Amino acid sequence: MARIVMKFGGTSVADLSRIHNVARHVKREVDAGNQVAVVVSAMSGKTNELVGWVQETPKVAGASMPLYDAREYDAVVASGEQVTSGLLAIALQSMGVHARSWQGWQIPIKTDGAHGAARILDIDGSFLIRRFEEGQVAVVAGFQGIAPDNRISTLGRGGSDTSAVAIAAAVKADRCDIYTDVDGVYTTDPRIEPKARRLAKISFEEMLEMASLGAKVLQVRSVELAMVHKVRTFVRSSFDDPDAPGMGDLLNPPGTLICDEDEIVEQQVVTGIAYAKDEAQISLRRVADRPGVAAGIFLPLAEANINVDMIVQNISEDGKSTDMTFTVPNGDVAKALAVLDQVRKDVGFDVVQHEDGMSKVSVIGIGMRSHAGVAATAFKALADKAINIRAITTSEIKISILIDGPYTELAVRTLHSVYGLDKH
Ligand code: ADP
Ligand code: ASP
Ligand code: MG
Repeated sequence: MARIVMKFGGTSVADLSRIHNVARHVKREVDAGNQVAVVVSAMSGKTNELVGWVQETPKVAGASMPLYDAREYDAVVASGEQVTSGLLAIALQSMGVHARSWQGWQIPIKTDGAHGAARILDIDGSFLIRRFEEGQVAVVAGFQGIAPDNRISTLGRGGSDTSAVAIAAAVKADRCDIYTDVDGVYTTDPRIEPKARRLAKISFEEMLEMASLGAKVLQVRSVELAMVHKVRTFVRSSFDDPDAPGMGDLLNPPGTLICDEDEIVEQQVVTGIAYAKDEAQISLRRVADRPGVAAGIFLPLAEANINVDMIVQNISEDGKSTDMTFTVPNGDVAKALAVLDQVRKDVGFDVVQHEDGMSKVSVIGIGMRSHAGVAATAFKALADKAINIRAITTSEIKISILIDGPYTELAVRTLHSVYGLDKH
């Protein structure tokens, strides 16, 4: 007997027949004698619709600024998961499985007060363990918790993955299965590159990089939690036949295992390619070359909650001034320019140029630590396709390259092929 947390994403619960299919996956594990807790997302598209309504409401009400209260945002957008948790409980009950739905506040899943992007602080596993002892399948609404102000909070987009891994850690589950619309983690997004290959295993570190550099198959925070709490996490498909042979395998279910790097025997130099669209580049000219300048620019941006990513600073030719370029999400450009305008005089810089519609493509692999020339291979491959490189950042296990948005797909496919990741 094992203790398993099963998480089903939006496309897996997109309509009633898919919810029925999910219930069959759950029943399979229950019938095998396992203790099961389930985490669900909202039906696909539902969260987007709810977010859209929240953003529209101030405009329709005639407000001059499109501002809204983050606590009410959470009250609205958390509702999608409430619906699917109840529907799945009903589907399970109809199939003779003892099941009950639970909202985040009922467990409770305690979060901090950052409404809209809250972090889980604590889940007392004993509530769910009592449900296991009663033979009940708890169907938990993902993406949501309760903040210190006693109000519903949400965990940021894609947050149900994090709910599932956090619950698995709290109840010391043997496994956390993230069911989605692909049958595992691929060498790159299979929607962009059909030649992408499914990985049998990927290390926590690489998955962390893949997720933070754009592969939305897992939310970044869920990978962090899995790594810290050593949760055995699998990514697998809910569209597979629930009763196909091997689906109920305890140790090796079909899918991709996220694990410690020493569990991976044949480590490749490059494991995967990720991309993030909708980046913008902001350039500052004649930035004063003296201590405190970077802090004078980036602290106010951070205080305005603007996520600055790649930063490139040139060497000063005359010792007096330099140029600086950095990237922010497209949606933050207006806010960033307003902040820069405020600090421009104090810090000392001249022209601000900005361009949106950029993309960041990244090459990821633990093997890079011990191999030279990985970056040069990427630059040459992109040059051969006449793709211009705007900025570069590297770390021990990744290279990120900023390019013009329209070249994203071409760049991803080119890099995927040059490192021999294509399926043969
Ligand atoms: P869910 O609704 O189940 O949470 P998501 O849409 O959030 O599903 O994540 C699954 C999607 O992630 C896939 O459909 C795929 O297009 C995308 N994806 C991006 N990069 C990868 C990758 N490297 N491997 C697998 N899927 C990826
Ligand atoms: N429904 C939420 C979202 O769309 C959470 C999730 O799907 O993980 O972001
Ligand atoms: Mg997701």
